[in-house]
Parts: sequence; structure tokens; C-alpha cells
Amino acid sequence: MPYLTPTLVKRVSPSQTDITWNDDHFSSYPSWYLRENCTCAACVEEFSGRRKIVHGNIPSTVERISVAPVGNYALQFVWSDGHETGIYTFEYLRKLCPCSQCLPQGLEDPPESVLNPGSFEA
Ligand SMILES: [Zn+2]
Ligand SMILES: [Zn+2]
Repeated sequence: MPYLTPTLVKRVSPSQTDITWNDDHFSSYPSWYLRENCTCAACVEEFSGRRKIVHGNIPSTVERISVAPVGNYALQFVWSDGHETGIYTFEYLRKLCPCSQCLPQGLEDPPESVLNPGSFEA
């Protein structure tokens, strides 16, 4: 399998980012979905790997403030809830692809607003 990298990262809107891959696969990510799946130390327990953010913690209204490349292996997003420590490797982004081929069950939209967005039990 060739090393998968994006050939195009398109800021479609603050709530949607599209990636075209070098194998011509196309992924379209809602911002809330990427934010929900952040793998930084604040979002995932270091030792257990347990995710501290679960579906419903992130409102569907969260927006992408910016996206920038990290080296040649990842993207770093800044989100409207102030979170900016998440680095998404290309490999991980591809695994997250929510297209009907990669994720046949599809995505379930989270609520539009949540009490204490992004909060979790420590
Ligand atoms: Zn995070
Ligand atoms: Zn896909």
C-alpha cells in the first residue's frame, strides 16, 4: 500500500473540511467529528488510551478556525472552542474517513449545543 497523503485539503466551510487523497479517495469531515476524535493528551488518557470525549460532548456547531500542515505527516486544527492541541496524522485522518465506503453506518449528528462543551470527568 503506498503511503497515503492528501493531495488537496479544502476548507469548504468552517464546519467542513474535505480531503482528496493521492489514491483518489475523497473524504469530507464535519468539524465536530474531527474535534470529537482528537487524540491529544487532553482528550485521550495516556496510558489506557481511553477517550475522555464521547459522542455528544462536542456540539455540532463547533467550527474550524484554521488548519495547518505539521511536517509532511499531519494536520493541526484550531477549533472554535479554543482547542488547538490536536495533531491529526494523515493515517489517522484516513481511518476517520466517514464516507459511505469507509463508514457504512454513517455519522450521527451530535446535539447543536451541549452543557459545558468539551468537558469531561477527569
Ligand atoms: Zn484534544
Ligand atoms: Zn472513505
